[in-house]
Amino acid sequence: MTAPVTSIQAIRYARHERKAGANFTAPVDDHDLPMPLDYYVWAIHREGLPPVIVDTGFGAIAAAARGREITRPVRKGLREAGIDRLGVTDVILTHLHYDHAGGLEDFPNARFHIQDAELAFATSRQMCDHHVRAPFDGEPVAQVVRRLYHDHVVFHDGDESFGSGISLHLAHGHTAGLQVVACETERGTVILASDAAHLYANLARSIPFPIFIDEADYIRAQSRVMELAGGSLDHVVPGHDPLVLSCFPTENDIARVDLPPHRPIAEVL
Ligand SMILES: [Zn+2]
Ligand SMILES: [Zn+2]
Repeated sequence: MTAPVTSIQAIRYARHERKAGANFTAPVDDHDLPMPLDYYVWAIHREGLPPVIVDTGFGAIAAAARGREITRPVRKGLREAGIDRLGVTDVILTHLHYDHAGGLEDFPNARFHIQDAELAFATSRQMCDHHVRAPFDGEPVAQVVRRLYHDHVVFHDGDESFGSGISLHLAHGHTAGLQVVACETERGTVILASDAAHLYANLARSIPFPIFIDEADYIRAQSRVMELAGGSLDHVVPGHDPLVLSCFPTENDIARVDLPPHRPIAEVL
């Protein structure tokens, strides 16, 4: 029997040059070496169903405001991945940070799937704290609320089946309601970890990325990701790692992460 998920594309749209020291909550030996972040949206394909998009990316205004470089606008990336964004009926929002929820307008016909805890958090008094609020933009959160009033938001609470080879898993710590996406593929369960793991190095070193609301929960979320992936780094797709493009079969900045990496990820780190 063939697996329900037939392919998964990681579509890169932006980049941020930075040093390793900026990517960990604890001091690291290579702190002064370059360790850039890439930004992706993901597309999950199943037989006979429209693609499910995971996260929406951000646009030119957020890129300029935050000093990120758009390598290819999300709309163009989707087109070049063979996806008609107007035909997308379901978008999973892993969380509401600007770089994941900044492009809702690209999917006018979609329902947005989000954890209860994430929208509650993003509209709570905790956003009065400028440090907590920094990775959020108000407009995407307002857009989610507006979509809610048009019956275009679907809430999830904890771990839930999404149907046909996809399940959602709460992995809070980075934010209050971050969810990771598990996909049943030909090579086993592949976890789209989003910001539960920015980089393979965060997992391999067991040191999370330095944006969190609860560091202990964040470390537990990383362990949960590894558990869901059957203990295999090769079955985890981190949210921001350039290694995704260099390690998996890639064409035109679009990696096929349903396929195995060229070499075991643990050997590349
Ligand atoms: Zn985030
Ligand atoms: Zn992110």
